[in-house]
This record gives sequence, C-alpha cells and structure tokens, in this order.
Amino acid sequence: MPVTIGALRESAPNETRVSLTPEVAEKFAQSGARVLVESGAGARANFPDALFKKVDWAPSPAAVLTNADIVLAVQPLTVEQIQQLKPAAVVVGFMQPHARKDEVKALRDRRITSFAVELIPRISRAQSMDGLSSQAAIAGYKAVLIAASNLPKFFPMLTTAAGTIRPSQVLVIGAGVAGLQAIATARRLGAVVEAYDVRSATKEQVKSLGAKFVDTGVSAEGSGGYARELTAEEKAKQQEVLDSRIAAADAVVTTASVPGRPAPKIISRAAVERMRPGSVVVDIAAEQGGNCELTRAGETVNHNGVNIIGPVNLAASLAYNASEMYARNLLNFLKPAIEKGELKIDWTDEVFAQACLTHDGVVKHEPTLKTLG
Ligand code: NAD
Repeated sequence: MPVTIGALRESAPNETRVSLTPEVAEKFAQSGARVLVESGAGARANFPDALFKKVDWAPSPAAVLTNADIVLAVQPLTVEQIQQLKPAAVVVGFMQPHARKDEVKALRDRRITSFAVELIPRISRAQSMDGLSSQAAIAGYKAVLIAASNLPKFFPMLTTAAGTIRPSQVLVIGAGVAGLQAIATARRLGAVVEAYDVRSATKEQVKSLGAKFVDTGVSAEGSGGYARELTAEEKAKQQEVLDSRIAAADAVVTTASVPGRPAPKIISRAAVERMRPGSVVVDIAAEQGGNCELTRAGETVNHNGVNIIGPVNLAASLAYNASEMYARNLLNFLKPAIEKGELKIDWTDEVFAQACLTHDGVVKHEPTLKTLG
C-alpha cells in the first residue's frame, strides 16, 4: 500500500497559507505516494483545486485526518484534530512546542510521530527544509513594505522640479534571515539603511547588502548560530548607542529574537519619545512579546505621533509565495523518507532525530519535555 500524504485547509483564523501546492503534490505523487487534499485547501493562497493534478479529494478535514498516514500542516493541529488522526500517523508542521502544551500531550498520548519544522537543525544540508527561514524572509520583506506605506515620506532620494527630497533613514534591528531580507528590500526602495545585531558575524552580511552596521561594542555570540542573552551591563551599553540611531531613523524594523524565549526588549518608551513625529516602528517580533516596549500584537499604537506597528503572521500576507516555499521545505524534508511510495524514516539521520517532537508515546525534544513538567 502506498503511503497517503494528506493536506488540510488550515483552520486557524487568518491563516491563508497551505502546506501543499500543486507543484509539490505532483512531486509526492511521482515518488509513489497517494496524495489526499481537503477541497479548498489552497484557495486562500490562490491555488484553486483545479490546479492540483494526480490527487484525491477529501470533502472534510476529518476525511484527511482519518485516512492520511502523513499529515502536512502549517499551523499546529488542534487537540480535536489530533484525536482524529490514524494510529501511528505522522504529522509535519509548525508545532510551537513551547506554547502548545495540550497539543504536544495529545500527540504524545495518541502515539503520533510529529516533526516540528521549528526543530529542523540549521545545518547546511537542511537549508532547503528550513521553514523558519523561508517564512522569516517573507516577514522581513513585508515589514519594510508596511514601513514604507505608513511613512509620510519617500524612501528614495528624489530630484524633482519642486526640489530635492532626502532619502528616508531605515534602521533594521536583528540581522538574521528576516532582518537581512528587510535590509535588502529597504535598499531596493532607495532608503539609507543601517542595521544592528548582537552577533558580530552579521557585520559583513549587513555591509554586503549596502547597509551600515551600527557598532555598539557589544558582542553576543551564542551557540548554534543563535544569540545568547546579554548581561545588564552589556544591555545598557548597547542601548546607549542604539537609542541615538533609533532617534535618527524615519523607520525602524525590528526582528530580534532569542529561540525559546520572549523577544528581547530593545526599544524603550523613552527611545520612541526621541523619534520624530511621523516615524514608524514595525515590530516583527510582536507575536513573541515585541522588541519595542509599546508594541501590541496585531495593533498599531500611536505614541506622540510615532506609529508602532505590531503585525502578526506576516508570512500569511504573501500566502502564494509563502506556501510555495513552505511546501518545498516539507517536500525536501520528507523526500529521503519516501521510497517507492513507502515511508521509511532513518532515525540515525540527525535531521529526523532532531526535528522529532513526539514518537511512540514519548516527547523526544528535551526542552519541551521539561516545560511539560
Ligand atoms: P532569529 O529569528 O532567532 O533572530 C533574529 C536575529 O535577532 C538574530 O540574528 C539574532 O542574532 C538577533 N538578536 C537576538 N537578540 C538581539 C538583540 N538583543 N539585539 C539585536 N539583535 C538580536 O534568527 P534567525 O534569523 O532565524 O537565524 C539566526 C542565524 O542562524 C542566521 O542569521 C544564520 O546565521 C543562522 N542560520 C543558519 C541556517 C543554516 O545553516 N541552515 C539556517 C537559518 C539560519
């Protein structure tokens, strides 16, 4: 029996992305798998049913959940959905293991094999599977467009019959995947861009994109390519230099995060009060608590004429490309495990071993296990 790979229409409010696109569905079918798609799954991402070839259709989410051996998802499945899965089914998607304790327990108790996209190791071989990166790049791009469209100024320098218009100053805080895409996008729009990150390794990347690196004299190299938390003294020093650059900016895009922790607070109320009226802060970290003290997720806060925008699920606002990239990430992850239509997971492969959240009734990811108590 070939393995059945199922894809759902996402049930989370405002989730427009889909875990399977027509291109990827065809590739799974070519690898010998049966592909089962919930009718209308791709509609909000502009992949109507008619574009999917060589797939079977499921009239309801339950028809996918009760029949699929592997369920592909964007957002974590709900506890109710997990209850409907086939025994020993496999689920692949974002799992938010720190936040979704009930869901993790349900996956464990139902002996589901779950792979969390967030846990795929960030090694070169797994770059093509890295859903965090593909979706972060989209967030960085979109954040700059939001900044540009909310600023009462041009981004580029303009020489017009009515005189010369000075270019906008953009500051990007956090130069990871989202931040680098934000820098590139702001540069393409003609802004003068500065960027800052606690990891000094980002300095060269920032410069290569034509932006200036803000040097605060503080470095926070952590392990595994991530930042560590800063000491109080380091934070104060960082803050001093950063506050002056924030005050000079027309638009600030913040993308800083530390895995598994609330987003670091980098822009204080006092720093916002030094900004010029009309300036904008777009805080990509809004959903993790925000990099700005005044950020409210899903809202725009006007403070003394400065707009602090806290967008949520930015990737979903570019649902077509976000789904294309995400579905390819999942294909690249699963491809090595599907041989002639059959599922064979190589548990000695660090990619599968590390991405595994639950298997055989056990929570495999140590930090998540600890949070469950
Ligand atoms: P992230 O979303 O966890 O964090 C975003 C950025 O915020 C990071 O660059 C981090 O250094 C920065 N940051 C954290 N605290 C800060 C603070 N107080 N002030 C300023 N900046 C702060 O990171 P990410 O974008 O997902 O990835 C981080 C890095 O991991 C990448 O830039 C890359 O070097 C590496 N990476 C490697 C691979 C791979 O090899 N497969 C894939 C993706 C990322």
